[in-house]
Order: sequence, then structure tokens, then C-alpha cells
Amino acid sequence: MTVNRALFDEVMVPNYNPSAVIPVRGEGSRVWDQQGKEFIDFAGGIAVNCLGHCHPALVNALKEQGEKIWHLSNIWTNEPALRLAKKMTDNTFADKVYFANSGAEANEAALKLARRWAIDVHGEHKSKIISFNKGFHGRTFFTVTVGGQAAYSDGFGPKPGDVVHCDYNDLESFKALIDDNTCAVMMEPLQGEGGIIAPEQAFVEGVRELCDQHNALLIFDEVQTGVGRTGELYAYQGLGVTPDILSSAKALGGGFPIGAMLTTAEIAQHLKPGTHGSTYGGNPLACAVAEAAFDTVNDATVLAGVKEKEALFKSLLNDINAKYDVFSEIRGKGLLLGAVVNDKFKGRAREFLVASMEQGLMSLVAGADVVRFTPSLVIPEADIREGMARFEKAVASLV
Ligand SMILES: *Cc1c(COP(=O)(O)O)cnc(C)c1O
Repeated sequence: MTVNRALFDEVMVPNYNPSAVIPVRGEGSRVWDQQGKEFIDFAGGIAVNCLGHCHPALVNALKEQGEKIWHLSNIWTNEPALRLAKKMTDNTFADKVYFANSGAEANEAALKLARRWAIDVHGEHKSKIISFNKGFHGRTFFTVTVGGQAAYSDGFGPKPGDVVHCDYNDLESFKALIDDNTCAVMMEPLQGEGGIIAPEQAFVEGVRELCDQHNALLIFDEVQTGVGRTGELYAYQGLGVTPDILSSAKALGGGFPIGAMLTTAEIAQHLKPGTHGSTYGGNPLACAVAEAAFDTVNDATVLAGVKEKEALFKSLLNDINAKYDVFSEIRGKGLLLGAVVNDKFKGRAREFLVASMEQGLMSLVAGADVVRFTPSLVIPEADIREGMARFEKAVASLV
């Protein structure tokens, strides 16, 4: 069988349009394709591979658990899930955890919990959900409707109701939307897919205050920002604004699928037996790997390293920009970074990704105007420098 990109078009549903390169092996922040060509990985599986590829701690956890027990269902609980939940609650505002398999599912659980809480505590009228334009919360029908790009939820028939949007960082519009019928507000504490957009401090604080005034739950979607990505264990800890519900996925499993919804004991009690569930959620194999990832990332040296690497990334990107003048802004926090293309390259961020692949560098975009980097949180300095040398060649090839 010839396994190549052409086979994708033959046998796969056409909802993705992947690169012609098919990676087959990875180690740390380096990846090799079918032909043995080497790539430096600044994409990190879209903020998932927080410890790079085949990190020994994760490989060991997977092997060890793989020889013990893989799956039980939620009729029985399991040790890895209990240990991971204990560590997550010990290190965050939360008292309770629900495990899912992905970011969308963690958000779906968060939204269903918020609706159930509102009905139990306040009544049917309190159902409004507010979220933000350009926000991204996953692809289930509820989460994609709450997401801030109507194009992703249009064309599938009637949408879940009572979901409204306003602009991120626009506290006045938000104030005009929120009322006593508002059940929950869902936001990313730094918008990822939308273009690496940071919240203004007064905006997040204002959102928290208005949620309190109107008895609405604040849900932070930390699927992309969580587990060390911004240099804090969770981004809310760096903002000093605490949500009522938080979702985590992506880096949580370091590459093994898992999602989690975290909340307080008071809110959690509304998800009574039978109200929600998942066959795989909290599966021992996923939780064992996630526990190893969580332990490794939740370390003062690793988290401080993220901030040092952020500084190095930004300074090297600024150097490249000083030479070639292609970006209007280098932004983001920790290792969730965006380089906004300037007017000369408007709408053409993807060309940087394609040119980088030619030079042996994997990168990402966030929308049409932002080149995005979400590398391993433990990427060695040498790999950052080598990757940036390759990125410079890619930039040079475009100007
Ligand atoms: C990636 C992402 C999701 C969706 O996660 P999946 O695992 O693809 O379902 C949700 N929210 C944010 C902020 C994300 O970045």
C-alpha cells in the first residue's frame, strides 16, 4: 500500500486539507517525515505537545499503565483519574473535576452544567449565554454556536438558542448585554484561534464583576492557555481573576486525548448522577499520561523556563522583523505567540507556514493575518535558535 498524501484524498472525509508532508517520528522538538527530512517543531500539535514528542515521563506512564489496565467505563473509578483530579484541585481554585476526551467536550460539560445550575437555582428564564466574537470553544454544535465565528456554526440547521456575542475587550457592549437572565459567560483568558488576543486587565476584571452583580457564572476556556502555556499553570492565575468553571484539554494530555472541566463544590453538585457522562472520559490510560504531563509541567523551573523562552522567541522574532519588516506586532504570552503580518502581507499568514515547511520548520497560523507559534514548553534554546534561523530563511524567501 502506498501511504501518501494522495491516499488522504481517496479515503478521508475532506474536512481537512493537510500538508503534503507526513511526519512519522518525533523526539523532543524535532520531527522526521517519511523521507527522513527533519523539522523543528514550533507548532507543538497546536499547543498540545507541551513536553515535545515522546517525552520519557509520558512514554513511561503510557507503558506502565498500558500493562496494568486500559479502560473500565465509569461504572468503576480508577486510580490515575483520582490522582489526577486530586492534583488538579490542589493546584487550582476548583474542588471538583469532570473528565472528558477533548476541549469541546469539556466546554460542552461546562455549558450544560451552567444551564442546569441556573435552572435549579434561579429558574428557566436564566438561560442566556454570552461569549465573544473571534472566540473558539470547539466543534460540537453547542460549543461552536457559543464560539465567536458564525461561519463555523452556520449551515447545520437550527442552533442551540439564547447564545449572544459581543466584542472581546469591549466592556461597554458587554455591560449592555449582561442581565439577570444571563446564566453564563464563556471566554478564553487569551484568545488563541482568534489571533492571539490578550484581554485588557480592566476588561477581565469588569467581566468578573458584572457576572457577580448578575449572578452569572464565569467560564474560562483554558483549553489552549492551560497547563503551563502562558507561564502559569493556568492563565487565570496570572490575571488574578478566578472563574467559576474552567475547561482544560490540549496540553493536559501532552498528546494523549483528554479534557477536563473544573469547578467549585457548590456548582458541581448540580451535575447529579445521570445528568451527564462520557464512555471514555476519565479513562485510566489517558489519566495516567495526563498525570505525568501535569506533574512535569507543574514545576517552578519549567514554568519559569516558559517565560525565559517567551523572551528569547520575541527577541529573535523582533530581530527578523527589523531586517525584513513583515510584521506589525509580535504578541502573546508564554509560548502562545503570534506575529501579526503587516499590510504588505495582509491575509497571507499561511504563506509563512508553507515557506517554513520548505525550510524544515513547523509553524501555525491563527486566522489569515497571524503566524502562530505554540512549541513544546521545554524546547531547548538550541532548537529555538535553529528554528528561528530556518524561519528567517522562510521570511527571506517571501520578501
Ligand atoms: C482547541 C480549542 C478547543 C477545542 O478543543 P478540541 O480538543 O479540538 O475539542 C476549545 N477551546 C479552545 C480555546 C481551543 O483552543
